[in-house]
Amino acid sequence: MKIAVLSGKGGTGKTTVATNLAYSLRQNGKKVQLLDADAEEPNSHIFFNVDYVTEEPVNILIPNIDRSACTHCGKCAQACEFSAISVSQKHIMVFEYLCHGCGVCSMVCPVNAISEMPKEIGKVRVGLTHEGIVFGEGVLNIGEPSPVRVIRQMKKHIDQNMDVVILDSPPGTSCPVIETLQGIDFALLVTEPTPFGLHDLKLSISIIRNLNVETGVVLNRYDGVYTKIEKYLNKENIPLLMTIPYDVIIARSYSNGQLFSKVRKEYVEEFIKLFQRIEAMAAC
Ligand code: SF4
Ligand code: SF4
Repeated sequence: MKIAVLSGKGGTGKTTVATNLAYSLRQNGKKVQLLDADAEEPNSHIFFNVDYVTEEPVNILIPNIDRSACTHCGKCAQACEFSAISVSQKHIMVFEYLCHGCGVCSMVCPVNAISEMPKEIGKVRVGLTHEGIVFGEGVLNIGEPSPVRVIRQMKKHIDQNMDVVILDSPPGTSCPVIETLQGIDFALLVTEPTPFGLHDLKLSISIIRNLNVETGVVLNRYDGVYTKIEKYLNKENIPLLMTIPYDVIIARSYSNGQLFSKVRKEYVEEFIKLFQRIEAMAAC
């Protein structure tokens, strides 16, 4: 069972849900792997003591121009979707920080003036938490344009022998989220009861429906006052799987880098029930 925990925007409690779910299922004796795919700001590790075992670089191939062979025809610059090459009559420049390493420029060069050279854009770290959760995280180097390759390489570490693999997705609805969702069994959306939460939830659901992935929602900081999200979910026939109340103890745990289900122990059982609901939905 591979579960991606995601949200349409940052700050809704996505990491809180992913980490507490992983912890609770491990307390329940499950073999759990937690992968932090939020490579621009990985923070799941803050909630655990992780003994890292391996760290590997993530490389992309960027163009290396043979200026003596270049005819300045401009075809590489025209073909680059990311404006990472500039060609003038006398000069050619590669803007490495814009390059996504797609390789198109070397394919279109009519005189084979472009070879490729590796550039490190980030890392993947793998280890084990003191609770026995198999842990991994992708880390994008500062200034790099896209974490997609980092996420893709990290997902190669998915262990098929686990009972459950939980991916803490990047926020939003762009390419890194799509990459995280590839091959996933269930998308667990986390939102909050505000107009912003509802707006971003709708965007996330439209993406998930396009990918044909089973989904359900966790409503965080629930106060029972703003009910538009429940009405929307009812109308769209999307299950509300769990609510987490607006609670000062939970908020304090988060700001102290602590799993709140260690403090409010009754939530271990709540997260186990959440997983059972997900399992039941995925089995249908
Ligand atoms: S590898 Fe792709 S992104 Fe990079 S410069 Fe070439 S065409 Fe542009
Ligand atoms: S396509 Fe090749 S020859 Fe043309 S400008 Fe680019 S590197 Fe030079």
